[in-house]
Amino acid sequence: MITTNSENLYNEAQKFMPGGVNSPVRACRSVGRTPLFIDKAKGSYIYDVDGNKYIDYICSWGPNILGHCREEVINAVKATCDKGLTFGACHKGEITLAKLIQKHFPSMEMLRLVNSGTEAVMSAIRAARGYTGKDKIIKFEGCYHGHSDGLLVKGGSGLLTNSIPNSAGVPKGYTDTTLLAKYNDENSVEELFNANKDEIACVIVEPCAANMGVVPPKEGFLQFLRDITKKNNALLIFDEVITGFRLSIGGAQKYYNITPDLTTLGKIVGGGMPLAVYGGKREVMECVAPLGSVYQAGTLSGNPVAVTSGIETIKILESNVSQYDVLNEKSAKIEKAMKESGLNVNRVGSIMTPFFTEKKVTDYDTAVTSNTKNFAKFFNHMQSNGIYSAPSQFEAMFVSMAHSDEDIDYTCDVIKSFKL
Ligand SMILES: *Cc1c(COP(=O)(O)O)cnc(C)c1O
Repeated sequence: MITTNSENLYNEAQKFMPGGVNSPVRACRSVGRTPLFIDKAKGSYIYDVDGNKYIDYICSWGPNILGHCREEVINAVKATCDKGLTFGACHKGEITLAKLIQKHFPSMEMLRLVNSGTEAVMSAIRAARGYTGKDKIIKFEGCYHGHSDGLLVKGGSGLLTNSIPNSAGVPKGYTDTTLLAKYNDENSVEELFNANKDEIACVIVEPCAANMGVVPPKEGFLQFLRDITKKNNALLIFDEVITGFRLSIGGAQKYYNITPDLTTLGKIVGGGMPLAVYGGKREVMECVAPLGSVYQAGTLSGNPVAVTSGIETIKILESNVSQYDVLNEKSAKIEKAMKESGLNVNRVGSIMTPFFTEKKVTDYDTAVTSNTKNFAKFFNHMQSNGIYSAPSQFEAMFVSMAHSDEDIDYTCDVIKSFKL
């Protein structure tokens, strides 16, 4: 596979952007590669600037559950663009999108549209602190909640991939109120609540972790979080930026049947445009300005083009709900091929990760026992056979509704031909 054009662009990009990229994991350093520069994408396929075609299992890191360039979405976006890219003012689409979200996430009694998952989580935590009048928060090792200062502690995702334990540039005071618990470990949460009586505003969790690779919650874990937060007058925040509209149309909260107080959405909810959401209990959201004293704002929040992309995407999903079962079956086929190839795979619905460790991966500590050199061999085997998948052991593989049976069968064959 020739990738000269990508390599040339990469050399040029490095003069302008740190590492030549606008988000670290794209640099592909941990797999010993340089990034592909993408020209275009359609359906399940993505094409680089050298004209190579790949089956895409990154799906823009989650948003593209419908595949790329779904016609209805593109047409609606184009029509919206003709009416103006941004007004910085109210428009009807905001209500349409809010209604659609609330229909599938009834726990989001009120919500706010923002521009990125990072912003949604940061704002949800601010609302939780404002509402409870408490400062401390509990997060889990290996869960990623965006790159805001207070959350860059054992953050998973690109931090893990690039071996950055925490981030420079974050004053110690910013993370003093962030308490770390272990995913799937109820005692670790209980101890923090006991040691910080009446000081904990919220617990934030990825209801199915996907940023240390896919790590499902063990039976009863989410219910435990629901109960202990309630008992301690703390809020439970589900960060559903990946799982929202992914594990089911109603996200992880519907899939696992646990209702959080606050939810954050991103990725799929914008259908490929920069849009994210936070929301939840009315009495909490009423603390947000201008109703309340928790400040949060955004010049481009509720951007009409992004809102249109979100509306059309959700409409397609809700009128094809049976596609979630098909998606699950397709994903199960890939999981089966991985198992036949001797790989240790975790899968929930259409997200999965093969871990290069003998251990059952249930948390951060077990995830990091993975041999990332072996993962790199797997990644390179996939890419040289025309399969574009996450260049990191600690990310998920995303299957989309656009992947055809032929795509899946071919992918399974490539996986089965992998030898360490
Ligand atoms: C991607 C992600 C974020 C951050 O979203 P951005 O849009 O990249 O800022 C937050 N939480 C989770 C669970 C994510 O997967």
